[in-house]
Amino acid sequence: MFVARAAHNGARLRASYLEIFKYAHRRQSTPTAASYARIASCARAFHGASCLRQRAEGSSQTSDIAQKLNTYKKTLEFPPATYDFAKFLAEASVGQEIVLHGYLGTQSYLSKAVSFARLQDPTMKYNIQLVAITGKGPSEALKKIRPNSPVVVKGKVQKKRAKSAEMARRDPWEVILDDIQPLNDFPNDIWMAPDMVHPPKHRHLQLRTSSELRDALRFRAEARTICRSVLDQSRPAFVEIETPLLFKSTPEGAREFLVPTRKRGLAYALPQSPQQYKQILMASGMPRYYQFARCFRDEDLRADRQPEFTQLDLEMSFATSEDVMRVVEKLIRQLWLELLDTEVSHGPFWKLPYQEAMRLYGSDKPDTRYGMEIYRIEHLLPVDLVQKITPLTDPIVEIFKMDGNDNYAPATSAFITHFLDSPAGSSFNENPEGAPGIFVYDTKKPLCGLQPFGFQAAEYVEELLKPEQGDLLVIQARENAPFAGGSTPIGDIRRALHTAAVKIGFKQPPTGFDFLWVVDFPLFSPSTESEPGQGGAAGISSTHHPFTAPKTAADVDLLLTEPTNVVADHYDLVVNGVELGGGSRRIHDAAVQEFILRDVLKMPQERLADFSHLLEALRAGCPPHAGLALGFDRLVAVMLGKESVRDVIAFPKTGKLGEDPMVKAPGPVSQEALETYHLRLLEEPETTGP
Ligand code: ASP
Repeated sequence: MFVARAAHNGARLRASYLEIFKYAHRRQSTPTAASYARIASCARAFHGASCLRQRAEGSSQTSDIAQKLNTYKKTLEFPPATYDFAKFLAEASVGQEIVLHGYLGTQSYLSKAVSFARLQDPTMKYNIQLVAITGKGPSEALKKIRPNSPVVVKGKVQKKRAKSAEMARRDPWEVILDDIQPLNDFPNDIWMAPDMVHPPKHRHLQLRTSSELRDALRFRAEARTICRSVLDQSRPAFVEIETPLLFKSTPEGAREFLVPTRKRGLAYALPQSPQQYKQILMASGMPRYYQFARCFRDEDLRADRQPEFTQLDLEMSFATSEDVMRVVEKLIRQLWLELLDTEVSHGPFWKLPYQEAMRLYGSDKPDTRYGMEIYRIEHLLPVDLVQKITPLTDPIVEIFKMDGNDNYAPATSAFITHFLDSPAGSSFNENPEGAPGIFVYDTKKPLCGLQPFGFQAAEYVEELLKPEQGDLLVIQARENAPFAGGSTPIGDIRRALHTAAVKIGFKQPPTGFDFLWVVDFPLFSPSTESEPGQGGAAGISSTHHPFTAPKTAADVDLLLTEPTNVVADHYDLVVNGVELGGGSRRIHDAAVQEFILRDVLKMPQERLADFSHLLEALRAGCPPHAGLALGFDRLVAVMLGKESVRDVIAFPKTGKLGEDPMVKAPGPVSQEALETYHLRLLEEPETTGP
């Protein structure tokens, strides 16, 4: 230590010698012995001065830190609040001595005799006026504390003089300050004002300024409590069980996040859901399970998704889909009743088979509140009209109607032109299967604007849709193939058009909550490049997940002959165009589960081995079971009418990469960590020139 410091001092000395030497050299090119002696003494003096300067700087730093430590020490002890603010405001009495915690608001000095400040309670929901009498008590101390600083105040309660009866009712009390203790500072370089929008890296300031955001988090916590109490109180009771987050990679459907370990070549995977563990619990004599589960999916984040999210996950043994739906309906009713004071329909939620949902609404999560049902009409249309709207041969052509406003056709024309020119609408024109055909029903025009349909088809369309003056008719072609995936092109237009109409005020927003179960999904869907599913060689993947059971005995038979026609015992809970969650009855028989993985999906042997734990558990007399998971972030967002799940998550990830800009995650991996985990980064791929 000493040696190092001596060497360091030597280097500093040499540096100063060099400077002086250069100076002397500039003045006198050949130094004499005398001048060397002068240089040496000069250098010593220079070094001494710089040491003094450093010592002075050092001592000012020391005193600065000493001061900071002293200030900090004064915040270590502080009295407990005698009252919670809300309770205090409800029960205060004149002359009462109180201690309150909170944040100081801005101060005002109305006269030389008194100054005022507001004190906001720690939840920032309530506030009260503080009064400091000049020259008495803590008025000087108050002046030194900056707004937004956390403080403890001691004082006496008195009635506030109010300008009106309304003010007296709303803000009846004030506190004469006896003492105020700052607990920290709020420095001048942080800018915080009501309604300010802070960048995501300052989420703490956003939370602090936005009562809406804080209220959303409180609401979320209350929703959790209600879910817990419904499940805890049901009989037999559900048991809340935590399952591991360090899981292993299994080809369940979504891409996983891997967690490397220090054991060379071994990694955990974060669970995309606790699906396999909860099924193992069903085989383990825990008949009713639930959990607020953190789930992780390394997916495209476009559709307001988060790479980590929360599910209310549940499972029941000796149970069927109907049993699960009943529990979930009860849960939803209780949530809506307690938190939104809204009664959700008394009877069971209606069930809409997938094929019907796709046919009528072009979506597997339809908003059913605003009509605009879809009908097939290709069999009625003249060939030249079909050829005009699509390059497909033998297409399906569908139509829907959207009501206009006040029977005024020009308003409808203006709206649809605006929509098709907007980013939300223009993409529909680029559909390779053909752009939508748009018609405004107008009695002033030949065939009411439906001339391209020809007389007969126009008549049929009028009969089918009963259009009125100013209504909009949209037709769209698609390939003649069975429904697959979540929506059809006309379903997408229906939804986008309605959203745009509400946004610009052409239509009133629909009200209420229309809950339904979308049921009878196909068990398998064609694999695509973006959704490879379980990576089997059959070209098909499980629509929900590979543990979902076929619906009926006939569907079990179809597994052998026409797997793509098998209907699944799979149900999604949908409200107002949002999928709140989904579940299924599971295959509880190990042989059938293995048959589906191996022979239907054609998974390679080594991937099949990834599921051996589940097959083992099923083999041990696992009872029939079914379950579901509700996307809890989405559920809370829907209840609060928020567009994005980010508005109900304390620290959401942003952007396509799923970053947390506040803590700067994900971060680069150090060389040391790479070595610890036996990892090596691949070279950046060479970019080829244009
Ligand atoms: N594990 C399923 C999911 O995450 C839900 C379920 O089937 O219970 O979607």
